[in-house]
Amino acid sequence: MASDSPLWPLLSEAPTAEDLARCVHCGLCLSSCPTYIVTGLEVESPRGRIHMAKLVNEGRSELTPAIQQHWELCLQCRACEAVCPSGVPYGRIQEHARAQLDHAAPKQRGQRRVRKFLLRNVIARPRVLAAAMAPARWYANSFARRLARRSGLLRGRLGAMESQLPRNVGRPYRPANTASPSAAATDETSSGVLFTGCVMGELFGNVHRATERVYARAGIDLRATPGQGCCGALHAHDGDLEFARKLARKNIAALETTTGPIVVNSAGCGAAMKEYGDLLSGDPKWASRAAAFAVRVKDSSELLNDFPGGSFEGRVAYQDACHLAHAQRIREQPRTLLGTLAGCSLVETPGADVCCGAAGIYSLVQSEMSGVLRQRKADQFAAARPDVVVTANPGCHLQYEAAVRQAGIPARVMHLMEVLDEAASSNSQQQD
Ligand code: SF4
Ligand code: SF4
Repeated sequence: MASDSPLWPLLSEAPTAEDLARCVHCGLCLSSCPTYIVTGLEVESPRGRIHMAKLVNEGRSELTPAIQQHWELCLQCRACEAVCPSGVPYGRIQEHARAQLDHAAPKQRGQRRVRKFLLRNVIARPRVLAAAMAPARWYANSFARRLARRSGLLRGRLGAMESQLPRNVGRPYRPANTASPSAAATDETSSGVLFTGCVMGELFGNVHRATERVYARAGIDLRATPGQGCCGALHAHDGDLEFARKLARKNIAALETTTGPIVVNSAGCGAAMKEYGDLLSGDPKWASRAAAFAVRVKDSSELLNDFPGGSFEGRVAYQDACHLAHAQRIREQPRTLLGTLAGCSLVETPGADVCCGAAGIYSLVQSEMSGVLRQRKADQFAAARPDVVVTANPGCHLQYEAAVRQAGIPARVMHLMEVLDEAASSNSQQQD
């Protein structure tokens, strides 16, 4: 096969032979893989996708449209990685496989270019993102949304995009809006940095404010240091590793002069930032700074041993965000925190840790598979009838709002920090 074939990928960012060789083809990951569960096809399984990456790497296959399709149907949920006995770093493999597509996608090149442009020039640029979100915020909170939904016009891709807006969008939260650190904030054990991200600050400002209040009750003063920005997870997942590294360097430079933990309330961002050391390991100037930064990153559920609790009445279905359960291996802490709340009855739904189909921009670009996975969640909610569905990731939050609508139940969807905040404030109201 000629190396100048138009389908031949540039191999500089290809998955390493060492990573690929760790797969011993045992198949233990198959039953955890959502796309395998839905299709029953080997080519839509982790083992199948790794095999295809090997074929391409070793020059035994071109990067064909079919291989692109099988790779792109992967949710990058990393459920396979969490159960793999050989320690295959599937998330890293898939990001590097996508990087090959970034250079030499055999199909949908135009769509990929538009996506890359938007991820670089809208999502990663706070002012542009804020301007883009202003009309979306108006629409989400207006009667126009109810009319549009009743009209039946929101079908297919348009419907998928529309469902990516929360039920209500509160005030945005931006680092520059916050006051300077208090005197107490100089103490490393009682202070930290709130990571504000991109979409999270625009659409889920309420969650950031709730996180600050919850941490304040636990004796930790969080500040949202200016200069930080998008974590780069969406770019890395789409194969734009070069730009993801640029964003990682920007965040490291902005936050490395601060002290204390870097608290993240978005599972996808937290997973990406805990892996900055890996992302920048090939850059001699940044590798050690990235590794030092990564160890400071904590999910918002990790540091709340001193949270005083409160009361929260209702049946609560906690759903594991993939990048919290599978990438960060955090499953118990959120459940433990919910378990401390008086009146809170935890309802475990089957498959709580199976991907909901949100997966960053997956619900927009793979709307069919995303819809199948959302329907599975809707069926589980309809059977369990929780009062509240709890998550720790913005994309999942939106997907669950849609699933709850499909289930036809009046459940609220809340971030874990919002639940803790509401519980704690009900406590203080009782004491007043
Ligand atoms: S990825 Fe891991 S679990 Fe899956 S087939 Fe390979 S070695 Fe087995
Ligand atoms: S990341 Fe998720 S969807 Fe992709 S192969 Fe692994 S388990 Fe399947």
